[in-house]
Amino acid sequence: MRLSRYFLPILKENPKEAEIVSHRLMLRAGMIRQQSQGIYSWLPLGKRVLDKVNAIIREEQNRAGAIELLMPTLQSAELWQESGRYEDYGKEMLRIKDRQERPMLYGPTNEEMVTDIFRSSVKSYKDLPLNLYHIQLKFRDEIRPRFGTMRSREFLMKDAYSFDLTQDDAIHSYNKMFAAYLRTFSRLGLRAIPMRADTGPIGGNHSHEFIILADTGESEVFSHKSFVDFDIPAEDTDFDDVAGLQAIFDKWTSVYAATSEMHDEAAFNAIPETDRLSARGIEVGHIFYFGTKYSEPMGAKVQGPDGKEHLVHMGSYGIGPTRLVPAIIEASHDENGIIWPDSVAPFDCVVINMKTGDAACDAACDRLYGALTKAGKDVLYDDTDDRAGTKFATADLIGVPVQIIAGPRSVANGEIEIKDRKTGARETMTIEAAINKLVG
Ligand code: ATP
Ligand code: MG
Repeated sequence: MRLSRYFLPILKENPKEAEIVSHRLMLRAGMIRQQSQGIYSWLPLGKRVLDKVNAIIREEQNRAGAIELLMPTLQSAELWQESGRYEDYGKEMLRIKDRQERPMLYGPTNEEMVTDIFRSSVKSYKDLPLNLYHIQLKFRDEIRPRFGTMRSREFLMKDAYSFDLTQDDAIHSYNKMFAAYLRTFSRLGLRAIPMRADTGPIGGNHSHEFIILADTGESEVFSHKSFVDFDIPAEDTDFDDVAGLQAIFDKWTSVYAATSEMHDEAAFNAIPETDRLSARGIEVGHIFYFGTKYSEPMGAKVQGPDGKEHLVHMGSYGIGPTRLVPAIIEASHDENGIIWPDSVAPFDCVVINMKTGDAACDAACDRLYGALTKAGKDVLYDDTDDRAGTKFATADLIGVPVQIIAGPRSVANGEIEIKDRKTGARETMTIEAAINKLVG
């Protein structure tokens, strides 16, 4: 992508409305624009990062056996009347009437709709287990939307819903998502800690929030420090291995970790003081086993091996991609801007032409841009007329992992400079060596 033909509305000044660093940097880097309170457009640079986050979420959901579909944002109130949640949901739900005065709503979540899809066609235990997910916009009329897309009113959610014949099977489905979440957050460059969450009236040990530590997080968290050493499930994890997945779950829930709602002071104080971690965190995912809470009122049943009808056991599993993007920035930035992990960087590298219009610099940059693009890299080429200093500042701000700097002096020797955004380390090499290094 040539920057001269791209849409990257960088802000020079720090936006006053931004209270936390990720919000400030997303606005400054031209990633998002607020359209009304808690409602955002994702501008091209932000959209690239969001797409990469979604691609990783999707890969890990698919690996764990979940199947993607797409449900609408607008739902009929009737479904929610069936489950009893239409009245309960309160002011967070945006209620709408269509031209026939039929009550509709902008979905805050999809348990009812997916249960309706399930009951309309699944009739036998032989079709189970089943896990359906989508990545779709939600709307919740939050009392206090803030911190940009971290807590917005319209936001993207990956929500998956599992259906099983028995509670034991449902726990296995839960463990699949548990392991998939550990892998997902790790691939996004984050260390997320699963914490027991409130299950409300259902009880049991089967709801976990995945929290990443950050000073600006809205949750207060208490945990054992040992989480940093736990292994992330490998890529070849066998998701059909019931005992293997249970062992992963047991390991990751073997030490104390809780948010303030579930905090047990005595259990926390039993941890040796040097191993105690009391911090703030951001909830990036939440998984839940809730049994027959929806299958019962909505009549979602299958015929079991015994020939009788059984209500299905369900779980739901959410991740917030539009919250993850700022969460990644909270975890990875410096005073000059964002430092993207390679896995979600909007571009793999940026070619900085220090003197656009200089024949030798232009030729060197064209060569680099062409060769790297041809090799399948996402390359941003800063071919604008800006001063070199402005180009360096932009490259640092938008956080592309590798900067390739072509200035008249080095290009005269057939060389360019490579700068690592994260470490700041610089290396001079020939154009050919740079191409080989980055493609290799
Ligand atoms: P919170 O406690 O932060 O309000 P929640 O518990 O209501 O969130 P869930 O229903 O568990 O949220 O939603 C699943 C995931 O969707 C959350 O873990 C989070 O990543 C994301 N999410 C929820 N609400 C928002 C929001 N207002 N803005 C952005 N992402 C959100
Ligand atoms: Mg939650």
